[in-house]
Amino acid sequence: MYLGYEKTVCEGRIMMVQNLWNNEKASQLNKGLDELVYRSNLIGTDRAVCNWGGGNTSMKTIEKDFRGRDIEVMWVKGSGSDLATMKAHNFTGLKLEDVKPLIEREEMSDEEMVAYLSHCMIDSNHPRASIETLLHAFLPYKHVDHTHPDAIISICCADNGKQLAEEIYGNRFVWVPYIRPGFTLSKMIAEGVQNNPNAELVLMEKHGLVVWGDTAQESYDKTIAIINEAESYIHNKIEEEKVFGGEKYPALKEEEAEEILSQVMPVIRGAVSGEKQMLLTYDREEDVLQFVNSKDAKNLSQIGAACPDHLVHTKRQPLYIEWDPVTKNIASLKEKIKLGVENFKKEYTAYFERNKEAGDQISETAPRVILIPGIGMVNTGKTLAMAKVSGALYHRAISVMKGATTLGNFVSLNENESFKIEYWPLELYKLSLAPTEAEFSRKIAFVTGGAGGIGSETCRLFAEQGAHVVIADLNIEGAEKVALEINEKYGSNRALAVKMDVTKEEAVKEAYKKTALTFGGVDIIVNNAGLATSSPFDETSLQEWNLNLNVLGTGYFLVAREAFKQMKEQGLGGSMVFIGSKNSVYAGKNVTAYSSVKAMEAHLARCIAAEGGEFGIRVNTVLPDAVLQGSAIWGSKWREERAANYGIEPDQLEEHYRKRTTLLVNIFPKDIAEAICYFSSSKAEKTTGCMLTVDGGVPAAFTR
Ligand code: ZN
Repeated sequence: MYLGYEKTVCEGRIMMVQNLWNNEKASQLNKGLDELVYRSNLIGTDRAVCNWGGGNTSMKTIEKDFRGRDIEVMWVKGSGSDLATMKAHNFTGLKLEDVKPLIEREEMSDEEMVAYLSHCMIDSNHPRASIETLLHAFLPYKHVDHTHPDAIISICCADNGKQLAEEIYGNRFVWVPYIRPGFTLSKMIAEGVQNNPNAELVLMEKHGLVVWGDTAQESYDKTIAIINEAESYIHNKIEEEKVFGGEKYPALKEEEAEEILSQVMPVIRGAVSGEKQMLLTYDREEDVLQFVNSKDAKNLSQIGAACPDHLVHTKRQPLYIEWDPVTKNIASLKEKIKLGVENFKKEYTAYFERNKEAGDQISETAPRVILIPGIGMVNTGKTLAMAKVSGALYHRAISVMKGATTLGNFVSLNENESFKIEYWPLELYKLSLAPTEAEFSRKIAFVTGGAGGIGSETCRLFAEQGAHVVIADLNIEGAEKVALEINEKYGSNRALAVKMDVTKEEAVKEAYKKTALTFGGVDIIVNNAGLATSSPFDETSLQEWNLNLNVLGTGYFLVAREAFKQMKEQGLGGSMVFIGSKNSVYAGKNVTAYSSVKAMEAHLARCIAAEGGEFGIRVNTVLPDAVLQGSAIWGSKWREERAANYGIEPDQLEEHYRKRTTLLVNIFPKDIAEAICYFSSSKAEKTTGCMLTVDGGVPAAFTR
């Protein structure tokens, strides 16, 4: 998912938007759809030109229909795609001969429009055409770009917008008052352009820009040039120290802010999650800090969305937390957050009740944008990627408010206009295109020894079922490899690798801090990092004993204790799975140190289970045996030691272990991962303090 073009985002309005057209690249493209894709991607590349998911582009051309006849076709962006990353298959081809006569009508409902356009598609496999399709169809130009540029919306969201536009564009523009996109707005735009022979652009109040051209390049060039006319006009008027009424609070230092964030993000996650968990991200970019620390942020942030397109991802208002960062009082910040979220949910529910129409279903009531002075912005979403989308859109809102308040007063859609966009079936349709949620969607799983055989298999299985995963391992290269594999398969933002030595208290704390800062908290932990040694009892050195105790005992204790703290802070319950061993319940010869600590682990799990019950924290243990595949332990001296113990060659071990099971099977990492996922899942939500053997049946280790 592409969220932004660093340069313009960081430097805000100081930069003009850049013309990114590359003649050499463009000349290599096939004329037609490829050019439209190229132009669309360029427009989406700079988020100051068009926000994530917003805007749309089109091209009118001649194509052969299925019978080989020449027909006039309009290619227009399909619903649910993003200009920055869209490809040819994200466009819809419509037969213009069927679409054009619609302009003769007086009115047309959204439902009629969607149904009608579906009949005009030249290929039923194309996506549903954009909500704003008719706007493109009714303009008699070959190429049309509709964008949501910060500078243009700054004018369109200023109370004196039309007057400003006259100063900037003279008589070259058409102004259309705010109404929800659809048939009527499209017709208004077409008529406005027809009535003004000088028209080069359309400004849509509280919404955006429409520009056109005879060629793809002309349309793009004009879009950029027209935005820059507004950019330079605004730029000349901005006085940085006066922006948003000037500074009220200082920004905290990066380190201080991160320390506070790592403590409050689990609290925020608990507060916003309610019936469904959320993922969190935070943002401390310069423009965000300038806004949250300003005198006007509290009032300005509550006026409303800066563009209709933001609403489903940001909601109408963010939650602004009134907290003085100079005090650094974390306890008071936590209280304010809890209270703030509770009030937000109540007010959101009341807003829904005031505006709902038959059939409307309330969406999640928690804020998507939380502003904290001194600290920055925290965003929420059902995935980390969606939380980041909400953040990216709020950057646009800040930029628009900065421009609009420099030029006049910022105005937004009113409450009912906002509701009609937020609960518009056509807007909700875009959200419905997202993949369905799986067992571990919205969950964060933390796996120790995540680079190893059982660990990596577990991470893969969690990710496959929707989880965000933290792969903690001493072997950071191995952990990064697993993270990369998962992110490539399921989209970035799904896996995080952290280097962690389970025996070091500080390292474990640091890993959870990183987890909270990256995802917001933790729901599932798997205590899996391990080692094994083998010696006759009287030859077991103190060093060997301590090694087992440190990694398998102290390590499991530290990893579980820090998780317990974070889970309690969140108040969302949690699941811990300990990887024990057959030796947790079986007195193995020549493995005293290992077996004793493995028994201790199982009891540690039961003790935590007893204490965790009242917080909804479940703790269970999986007892594997002889999982040789992919395990670091079995590549070590342990294999030789065990083989010697049984009086066989090291390469005969697999067969030896298979034969000694009741089911005559070998055990693989995947088998253990399945048991871990079962214990972590909602299917086991009434099970805690339990042990599950996954060993093919070893009678000596049957639990009793
Ligand atoms: Zn739009």
